[in-house]
Amino acid sequence: MLLKIPRLYDSHTHFLATGEFVTGLNLHGLHSAAEILSWDLEKENYHRGDWIVGFGWQDSGWESPPHKKILDQLFPHKPVYLAKADGHVAWVNSEALKRLGLSSESGLLLESDHLRSWDQLPKFSEPQQRNHILNACKVYNQAGFTHVRDMTGSESLWNSLIALENESLLTVAIEENFTFYNLTDFEVALELAKYTRQHETALVRSKGVKFFFDGSLGSETAYLSQPYNRIPNGNCGQGLWKSNDVEEIFKKAWTAGLEISVHTIGDQAAHEIVQTARKVSALGFVGRLNLEHVQVLRPETIQMMKALHVRCHMQPCHWLSDRDWLQKKLGDLYRYAFPWEALRAAQVPISFGCDSPVEKSSFFANKIALEQSPAARIKKFTGAIEEFHSHPDKSFVPDAWTVVSENSVEEVFFQGRQILFSRA
Ligand SMILES: [Zn+2]
Repeated sequence: MLLKIPRLYDSHTHFLATGEFVTGLNLHGLHSAAEILSWDLEKENYHRGDWIVGFGWQDSGWESPPHKKILDQLFPHKPVYLAKADGHVAWVNSEALKRLGLSSESGLLLESDHLRSWDQLPKFSEPQQRNHILNACKVYNQAGFTHVRDMTGSESLWNSLIALENESLLTVAIEENFTFYNLTDFEVALELAKYTRQHETALVRSKGVKFFFDGSLGSETAYLSQPYNRIPNGNCGQGLWKSNDVEEIFKKAWTAGLEISVHTIGDQAAHEIVQTARKVSALGFVGRLNLEHVQVLRPETIQMMKALHVRCHMQPCHWLSDRDWLQKKLGDLYRYAFPWEALRAAQVPISFGCDSPVEKSSFFANKIALEQSPAARIKKFTGAIEEFHSHPDKSFVPDAWTVVSENSVEEVFFQGRQILFSRA
């Protein structure tokens, strides 16, 4: 049976990185830290400026963890930056640490050190960036998506997107958000969001600013209300910002008419952000709040959301990657994990996405996750997935739609033009 979905939307992506890793250094196939010594890392595509940058290693089956010494053997004087598949850790060499002004015994950068450094890597050259954008368009279109929401905007990306739109080469409708990591960055991101908002086009929109309030469940840095693995007085993760600062951010961004997006994976992270949003709203500031991931949510947090303008952006495909250890890590909080049905029932708006390149951009992976998760006691999603995978604004590139069969993309139309044909 064929299904026609209007404005098929991936609501949480890292757009440029997705394009970058089509031709970039992909470390998925690396079986040990030492194996990297036999890889050719010097290819042109693997560079940003004189840095070697790669992505996608996963050390769970490795005999020994990655270490900077291994990379130093290969490159004593050239910076190397290799991001882990989960997007929360980087393996770097001594030269990279030196240039970033950071120190680490092992050469592993965690969470905000990694994320902030990632943003400070040398910019792509103009042709590289153009190439990455075109490759990203191809990735999303082949996966059926005509609409994407990018969490990693920058001024140069914005300019390149509009240049490609003017050449009729942009084949996705894209929303940009600008990430910040501290209050100084916030002012920069805010100005950029305000400026770009004045220069929106038919295909490129500016939505607002984004920050991380916690980490990830995999690395036990997501902020929970109970300790990981039921260890008494154990680690709960933590919130990364002071509540006064978060209040100021909300007030300024909402006053400017911008959306705020917050990475909240743990239940306590989401709870504290929603509490702040409620407090600021009560002071007379009104605006939109997007919560990214929300992998654990308590019912009282969901209740509080109902009176606010909140949209939750969820990636069911993350459940496929997390399911093996999820129950063990979460303990009693497991009953609140992946609460798409609780949100739907409370009529809190949800959009589904894939978080590429952390996960593959795939409508079908999300469909499979929603189908299989009830067997693991995740409450069954009773909505129609396609409604939550469609861009909610009918006026944003309205003549875009996708035809899917049970397990493949058959046709993609963008601005009324067919851009992807059935493989049959
Ligand atoms: Zn993300």
